[in-house]
Amino acid sequence: MNVSDSERVATLLVADGFEITRNESAADVVLLNTCSVREKAEHKLFTRVGQINKSAADRTEKKPVLGILGCVAQLEGETLFGKSPAIDFVLGTKAVGRVSQAIDNAFAGEKYYTDLGERDEIYDWTVAEAQRNSPYIAFVPIIEGCNKFCTYCIVPFSRGREKSLPASEIVRHLLKLRGEGVKEVHLIGQNVNSYRPKTDDGLEAFRGATQFSRLLRAVAATGIERIKFTTSFPRDFHPDIVEAINEHENLCNWVHLPVQSGSNRILKLMRRGHTIENYLERIDKIKNSPRCISLTTDIIVGFPGETEGDFQATLDLAEYCKFNFAYYFKYSPRPGTPAFEMSDNVSSEEKTERFLRLDKLIRSHQQPVFRNYLNKTVDVLAEKVSEKNPNQISGHTTCQMVVNFEGAADLLGKIIKVKILESKANTLYGKIS
Ligand code: SF4
Repeated sequence: MNVSDSERVATLLVADGFEITRNESAADVVLLNTCSVREKAEHKLFTRVGQINKSAADRTEKKPVLGILGCVAQLEGETLFGKSPAIDFVLGTKAVGRVSQAIDNAFAGEKYYTDLGERDEIYDWTVAEAQRNSPYIAFVPIIEGCNKFCTYCIVPFSRGREKSLPASEIVRHLLKLRGEGVKEVHLIGQNVNSYRPKTDDGLEAFRGATQFSRLLRAVAATGIERIKFTTSFPRDFHPDIVEAINEHENLCNWVHLPVQSGSNRILKLMRRGHTIENYLERIDKIKNSPRCISLTTDIIVGFPGETEGDFQATLDLAEYCKFNFAYYFKYSPRPGTPAFEMSDNVSSEEKTERFLRLDKLIRSHQQPVFRNYLNKTVDVLAEKVSEKNPNQISGHTTCQMVVNFEGAADLLGKIIKVKILESKANTLYGKIS
């Protein structure tokens, strides 16, 4: 979501006559788009502000305008100026569409401008992606915000309530992207399968148990070569989503379904709204698909009150699911969330010890998955020249595995058949088949 927001901001600025530079010392304006899901991300902000401030002090010309965007900006607002007077303006998550105005105000000499206001009512698709990081991959927001209020999470406070974008506009946008040569679209949102637009406009012709599964069928009909979606919320993950994937080759073989814990007691404390039993029903549906869908998840280790028995239940769940990949984190309290008031009573040592046990287990599941690819031929979207080896191209499979292979830049943007010959850490290596 943050990558998408940054692309949107860059596009807006170019449309307003700014030029984008990656050379910080040449910039008249430096914007930092922030995340507050993890504590470390906030610390990074102040480290970066310090670095920018230090290099600005060496400049002979005027120092750059420094703006803070994103979740930390939304949550901390004007208090950021107290923490670092070098910051010129603060723009909340819903105000990114007004970035040019904030810069103009700073240029006009207004100090400490703050906009934490609401989104503009009309989502402007024309500025959605002209400054994409990749010409072949586009992130398309379909729902913004979150209504779930999991007790550990700051997102409903930083991103506001759920707001689904109209299906007819999403479909129209995908058709435009296809015409521009985009090969892969990621439908994004905090919880994509909670997608509930106000009307069925654009979904009339498509069957489906939920508006999200109807949207999947509608976007599949655009003919764009690959469609991925993230993140899914277990409670709203209707089995019909798997049916839609089974029916449409261009809906990719990948579902990211964050479980967070294997213990019902902890899930209740987290206020996740799902139980392990109904999570596993969804997993079975995914695993029984003829499409061989790759399954990934998020897990928090050491949530307040987590006992050894609760953690063992997480290990049991991971053993059953055999995730292809997982993001797992040691719990850290986020100010402003209900869990912040709970006693963080799992010691740092216990968190580390449990984290390492989970890491070992998940890695042991990944090795056979990687080995299983050896000598098989997969379709890879050639996305970029490898940063480590200019003779190699890097891309992803439909199930989101990273693949590197020997090739030249004229392959970029094409879907290439690659025979896998080797696997290392989290990357597969092969040759054009
Ligand atoms: S579903 Fe829960 S974890 Fe996900 S963004 Fe919403 S509150 Fe946060």
